[in-house]
Amino acid sequence: MTAAETIVIATRNRGKLKEFSSLLRPLKSEILCLADLRIETEIEETGETFAENARLKAIGYSRMTPFPVLADDSGLEVESLGGQPGIHSARYAGPGATDQDRNHKLLDELARRGGGREARFVCALALARQGVLLLEAEGHSRGVITDQPRGNNGFGYDPVFLFPDLGRTYAELSEAEKDIYSHRARAVASLLRELQ
Ligand code: IMP
Repeated sequence: MTAAETIVIATRNRGKLKEFSSLLRPLKSEILCLADLRIETEIEETGETFAENARLKAIGYSRMTPFPVLADDSGLEVESLGGQPGIHSARYAGPGATDQDRNHKLLDELARRGGGREARFVCALALARQGVLLLEAEGHSRGVITDQPRGNNGFGYDPVFLFPDLGRTYAELSEAEKDIYSHRARAVASLLRELQ
């Protein structure tokens, strides 16, 4: 892949898309999403790992466009819950649930069990073109689940994920700060290193 080529981000999640647009700026590429290409097909996330699901999405969607496709599968793993919600992060509170519902379910579950609150975010990336996998990368960030949601920035589990190095939740970080420390930022940095 050459710099400044168009890249399609295989997501419908606005929060992720915003972060990718900023993180991929060094490539000077035009960033498109599935909606821009009017791709409505859903590739099933049937993998058992983040990496497998990212690969399935990148390869599957790249068969629908001539542009290279970058797919991410990401989520939150809580140690005392055996790694849950993990690859089920988006569906943790069932269909139709909101980010708020998922955060409350997680906090209720941890309060009920009384276990440890150590957690990590994981982001697996896969880049593919016309059905062929080109590159893969993964990024992690460690934190602690709070007792109550805090902050209004970001999306998903950001308000309940405390980043101990800064003493703030991800939802209390600025966009620029999350772009430095997040699992997605680390995965993109690793991918960019491989691209060069
Ligand atoms: P998927 O990768 O689209 O299957 O869904 C990932 C889910 O994990 C999202 O819907 C969020 O709930 C959660 N998630 C992934 N990355 C982040 C993040 O950076 N902040 C907060 N939640 C995230």
